[in-house]
Amino acid sequence: TYPSYALNLAQLGALCISNLCATKPLLSNQYDYKNSYMYVVDQHDRIIFHPDEKRIGDKIVNNTGLGYIRKNKSGSIRLVDSRGVDNLAGFAHIPSVNWTVISQQPTDELFAKANTLILEVSLGIFIFYLFIFILIWWISNFIASPLNRLARMASMLNQPDIQDKIKEVDPWYFEVLKFRTSLLLSSETFSHRISELKQHVNTDPLTGLYNRRGMQLFLNELIDTRTEFAALAIDIDFFKRVNDQYGHAKGDLVLQTLARFMQDNFREHDICCRSGGEEFVVLMTTGEPSVAYKAAERLRKTMQESTIHDMGQITISIGISFWPKDALDVSEVLEIADNKLYEAKHSGRNCTRSTAELES
Ligand code: GH3
Ligand code: MG
Ligand code: MG
Repeated sequence: TYPSYALNLAQLGALCISNLCATKPLLSNQYDYKNSYMYVVDQHDRIIFHPDEKRIGDKIVNNTGLGYIRKNKSGSIRLVDSRGVDNLAGFAHIPSVNWTVISQQPTDELFAKANTLILEVSLGIFIFYLFIFILIWWISNFIASPLNRLARMASMLNQPDIQDKIKEVDPWYFEVLKFRTSLLLSSETFSHRISELKQHVNTDPLTGLYNRRGMQLFLNELIDTRTEFAALAIDIDFFKRVNDQYGHAKGDLVLQTLARFMQDNFREHDICCRSGGEEFVVLMTTGEPSVAYKAAERLRKTMQESTIHDMGQITISIGISFWPKDALDVSEVLEIADNKLYEAKHSGRNCTRSTAELES
């Protein structure tokens, strides 16, 4: 009846003010669906609430979804409303009063909004993945860089300062620590091998003294550092006889014994070399003729007074020259020492001759 209808309308008005009207701005504000609206129809398809007050009391015609709404009571549908606008609608039936509340939004507007949303979400996802990608890249780089540095150093173990470079790598996790430790061990072994090899290349295997190559290295160093030195050329007297009489093996023993005497006789920074078969050179780091002469004589006397494996007396002759006093050219200095040695040989052997003529 009309009064009950009016009462219900009043109730609905109150409801609209307190609830429905509160919902609409919420929807509008939250999702920005400006053209969304809500209306209520009674069981006779008459509009009893509509945001456009002029439409209240109108009967709904030409609404393509009304049949479906009536049949299903509550749900959602795409419909064309009485003004011919395509809408997406949600509806719910209120059984007590037999009304239906319909909320609808124009489809175009919603799709446009959805497209913007999809774009925004896609952009957000892209930025998120880009950030994750950069983060992962940075973390992997952070993890891999010490390994990468060590791996590069593994192929440069022959560099002199490689151990310091390896120690510079911060071993902040277990694998790097292990890799670094084993690389340090390898480089230590490597440098040890290198120095061993250098030692082999520069020394004479029979006597353990420096060979010609080793002698040359020391000569270069003495010249570079402008260190004056005496060159002692030493030759065993009548060594052919020793070989002939006792055999080559015994001859070798004499060479080894003389080498030992030399190492005992000269100071640590004097350089004892085997320059050829039974010829030796000592580079004494002194420019003092008397010092060189005394050391040479000491060795000569040691040899003279020793009996090596019952081979009788074996003596040596020595020639001495000085750098830079006798010549600036090193090979010339060695040649002068050789000349002095031959002088000693011609003087009857088992004696020392020096360019400084101190022996007289
Ligand atoms: P001199 O007093 O004039 O020096 O007479 P020498 O017999 O020693 O003559 P020379 O210096 O020319 O002799 C060198 C000899 O040294 C020749 C060679 O048989 C011997 N010799 C050279 N190298 C070695 C070696 O490695 N081992 C041995 N056992 N003998 C060597
Ligand atoms: Mg000789
Ligand atoms: Mg000789």
